[in-house]
Amino acid sequence: MHEGVSKGLIFDIQGHSIHDGPGTRTLVFLSGCPLRCAWCSNPEGLVLQPQLMYKPRLCKDCPARCVPGCPKGAARQSENGGSHILFDRVLCDSCDTMECVKVCYMRALQTSGKWYAVDELMRLFNRDRCYWGPEGGITLTGGEPLLQQEFVLNLLARCHDAGIAACVETSAYVPRTVLLAALPCIQWLFIDLKHMDSGRHRQGTGVPNELILDNLRWISRTNWPGRLVVRTPVVPGFNDTVANAEATAEFLAEIGLSEINLLPFHRLGASKYGQLGMSYEYAEQPAVGQEALEALAAVYREKAITCHLGSDTPF
Ligand code: SF4
Ligand code: SF4
Repeated sequence: MHEGVSKGLIFDIQGHSIHDGPGTRTLVFLSGCPLRCAWCSNPEGLVLQPQLMYKPRLCKDCPARCVPGCPKGAARQSENGGSHILFDRVLCDSCDTMECVKVCYMRALQTSGKWYAVDELMRLFNRDRCYWGPEGGITLTGGEPLLQQEFVLNLLARCHDAGIAACVETSAYVPRTVLLAALPCIQWLFIDLKHMDSGRHRQGTGVPNELILDNLRWISRTNWPGRLVVRTPVVPGFNDTVANAEATAEFLAEIGLSEINLLPFHRLGASKYGQLGMSYEYAEQPAVGQEALEALAAVYREKAITCHLGSDTPF
């Protein structure tokens, strides 16, 4: 399934973004992530493999072509009648042809994730370039954009040579060598810091936080001339406590960083869990209120850390 290092798996490309770096930017969402945050809003980007997505509301007036169309027998009609289809996701996991998508004329079945060569992306960036303005460029996000390391380092080097400003949004749960190779080609870094307690971090994301903290410490000591903004998704019941905000502020001060961006938890990705056949732990979780966010922001500001809320980070 993998195309090797010559191509990268990308699950979305969005133009005209103004929230993830300065100016107007083209966002590239790379597939695959070593973390498993239970609140993730991009579940279609978790694994490094194209994903089958099923949208039942589009599935109608069709003789269920996908059922005989699946060579693995993974698709079957619901016993409750109607034209809704059930998919055996274990069998689907090993599928690399997605024949069912080809026979679904209603587009109820779609593939998330497409392999791109660096040249294809460079052509796309050159097309978008006239909309970016002097400050804009590209932002690589995901998933974890640095996971497909050889492809991404190649892409970043090409952008650098072409004078395209690059921003990367990463968990920093990556080897130091990858950051070392990427930094000279990056102008902006957003690094997610989800919890200061390593045990709680592991509970919420599936991995401990030591590597992330070490990488943050290391970057802050380098002479890298770009701008680093730490981002924390504020997740109810996980990290929305004053104690965690205080510990995070102390850590930032200790390593010489002076700004943070708090992003309130939202459920905008909820419908995608159903489309992927996944359950969503946060399906009923209300969003974080502005008052609660302001209370956390006050903790940072008391410790002289500039705190941006939501998409209000000044670029
Ligand atoms: S998923 Fe597509 S091919 Fe299958 S029954 Fe629905 S509309 Fe038809
Ligand atoms: S993705 Fe592959 S295995 Fe799954 S239903 Fe479609 S054709 Fe069958």
